[in-house]
Amino acid sequence: MFKSGFISIMGRPNAGKSTLLNAMLGEKIAAVSSKPQTTRTQIMGVLTHNDCQFVFVDTPGIHKPKNKLGKFMMKEVEAGSSEADVVLYILDASTYNFEREAEVLDSIRAENIFLIINKTDKVEKESILPIIAQMTAHREFAEIVPVSALKKDGVEKLLDIIKEHLEEGPQYFPDDTLTDQPEKQIAAEFIREKLMRNLNDEIPFGIAVTTDLMKYDEAKDLTSITATIYCEKDSHKAIIIGKKGEMLKKIGSQARHDLEKFTHSKVFLQLWVKVKDNWRNSDMMLKNFGYKEQK
Ligand code: GDP
Ligand code: MG
Repeated sequence: MFKSGFISIMGRPNAGKSTLLNAMLGEKIAAVSSKPQTTRTQIMGVLTHNDCQFVFVDTPGIHKPKNKLGKFMMKEVEAGSSEADVVLYILDASTYNFEREAEVLDSIRAENIFLIINKTDKVEKESILPIIAQMTAHREFAEIVPVSALKKDGVEKLLDIIKEHLEEGPQYFPDDTLTDQPEKQIAAEFIREKLMRNLNDEIPFGIAVTTDLMKYDEAKDLTSITATIYCEKDSHKAIIIGKKGEMLKKIGSQARHDLEKFTHSKVFLQLWVKVKDNWRNSDMMLKNFGYKEQK
């Protein structure tokens, strides 16, 4: 019997959703940073075993929207929970606060919901039981699984448990499918991740990245990538480029490292920086940057 199903990963910003997705897939496809709202769109990741196919959906963190980009992100969250066979509700044990978790949890309408206690590597074992007690008193969970997404502790076990809950179903995607994201989109996300990680304050939230060219040359085993970083102000552009171009160089070399792993080739990366004022409130620009509504 072949099993399959859609598994949605939900939770507050920074809980470790994208890290867990990457850990379950065993391959990095989603951007991860310590800044909330690193993930802006639904990202699908597919894991295929002999007898089972997991279709994971990583969602933006649940938060109160402040602009059109934020509203778009919350629609992505809704779409992620309504169609899922299993919802993984993930919380950060190291910053646990019951009221904040309960508020987010209450916004999720799903029946088969797992409680995933993440970042167990950062806390004492004794602090986990009270979290479980409080959360299960508030809502019924199909399963409760402590993990460290970063260290990959408990991740194999989580996959086994999810499998138990999946029903007989078709193989939706071919064996070698990893994600629904086009390669160009993933490349842009890796670059944006490095910007999120290296820049302080509000600049990262006003950044969008597009990949303009991505081309593999088999003879040289080299992938050439040209991407444009959009920011909202001239002063931001200056910071992104940095003194003598140092910041941009650093971001480029960190992104290249991930891109070489992802493409399994050498990478030549060219980055441009442009200013686009207030794009987060422009429908046209949102579309242009790939934040399109699905269906
Ligand atoms: P998301 O916003 O929920 O997608 O969270 P991310 O996956 O982007 O992770 C947010 C931050 O938490 C990043 O700095 C991760 O490296 C970190 N993180 C995620 N999982 C773990 C974990 O299990 N342990 C520790 N110590 N850090 C983690
Ligand atoms: Mg994320």
